[in-house]
Amino acid sequence: MTTDTKIIKDISCNDDFDPESLLVENAVNKILSVAKEINDETEIEIKESLGRILNKAVTATINVPGHTNSAMDGYAIRSHDIPSADFATLRVTGTSWAGKPFNKKIASGECARIMTGAALPEGTDTIVMQEHVKIENNSIIIDAKNKPGQNVRYAGEDIKKGALVLNKGKKISAADMGLLASIGVKKIYAKRKIKVSYFSTGDELASLDDSLKKGQIYNSNRYTLCGMLKNINAKITDLGNIPDNKNKIKDTLIEASKTSDVVITSGGVSVGDADYVKDIVSEIGEVNFWKVAMKPGRPLAFGKINNTCFFGLPGNPVSVMVTFYMFVQPALFKMMGQDESNMLRLQVRCLDHLRKRPGRVEFQRGVMSLNDKNLYEVSKTGSQGSGILTSMSEANCFIVLPLDAESIKPGDTVTVIPFASLI
Ligand code: AMP
Ligand code: MG
Repeated sequence: MTTDTKIIKDISCNDDFDPESLLVENAVNKILSVAKEINDETEIEIKESLGRILNKAVTATINVPGHTNSAMDGYAIRSHDIPSADFATLRVTGTSWAGKPFNKKIASGECARIMTGAALPEGTDTIVMQEHVKIENNSIIIDAKNKPGQNVRYAGEDIKKGALVLNKGKKISAADMGLLASIGVKKIYAKRKIKVSYFSTGDELASLDDSLKKGQIYNSNRYTLCGMLKNINAKITDLGNIPDNKNKIKDTLIEASKTSDVVITSGGVSVGDADYVKDIVSEIGEVNFWKVAMKPGRPLAFGKINNTCFFGLPGNPVSVMVTFYMFVQPALFKMMGQDESNMLRLQVRCLDHLRKRPGRVEFQRGVMSLNDKNLYEVSKTGSQGSGILTSMSEANCFIVLPLDAESIKPGDTVTVIPFASLI
């Protein structure tokens, strides 16, 4: 684990730079050193396995394909019968269908009609596409351009019997589901789903069933958290809106920690008079409270209540999403036993002027699009305030501006993280 790195910089009076802030990567490392992989596994049918994490490596007990077969509709021939010049005539003695092989040996001067996927009849080693033959009575005429071994798919060319097919920790994709089926695997051992409870704190929060009273807002964090957790296949418990009341927050945290691997809260972790969450967690567990050198999402609480990991996210809707993706999700992946994340960091040209102060990493919201030269470029979505959730909805990527960066000029290259790569 790395040690805390404090950022020492000159502070100007109109700068919200905080010299006590923790670097993003140090916060991530601290979290990952505490989050532990779940050991429990469950056996599931492969049709239920999309997005689940494999807990036992899978090796092939058969070759794929199981038999050498034709890649084309055409004729199976012996390569020795390819003429060295001009043409050769071969007699068609039968047909090999996919699933219905032709069981007679093909002698020199003979061939078999064959369909894509059909096993090569004994004696043959080469397929001539049907478009490349001339048919005459019950024979075909082939020319000297054919190559020995062409259009043949060999037994085991995709997967060899005994080969490691999928490793422990692999997140099962649609391709993996097909791959497992191709080797005849019906069930796999997957990690059990991670159990995550979450609630939102704030006296101002109304539920969607209520009409808004003066000063109230609808609880949007509840739904962004629900969506982000569903995206990664977590087993979620939504504990709703909890008012800024110490006892209610405490009781909810204690109950949630009894049944969950992870508890996430939003709001109430800052330094306002109604921000109780971190004090309560330090009373019933352990808590680190960090101001992370980032924008949005500066205040972040992380700790443990017994064996349950606790994340206290800020209340602002964009901050919730950024801190979830940067801190919570890597920890969940580690606990879920997932070997890697799909997060991409791409370098693209920025079309806009982006305001930025040194001393913090900024996650601005951008729209990446292809220009007329087929290169990706990025522009920012409108207002970048941490309460402007439309900036996330309109965006398709984060524009990540590093700690020391200052404002970006149009034409500068910036790093982007496409949202599509975050899950
Ligand atoms: P807090 O961190 O509790 O001080 O909240 C910061 C800002 O986020 C305030 O403007 C809150 O009203 C807003 N906020 C807190 N929780 C939510 C929520 N669940 N949904 C939408 N906005 C919220
Ligand atoms: Mg609050």
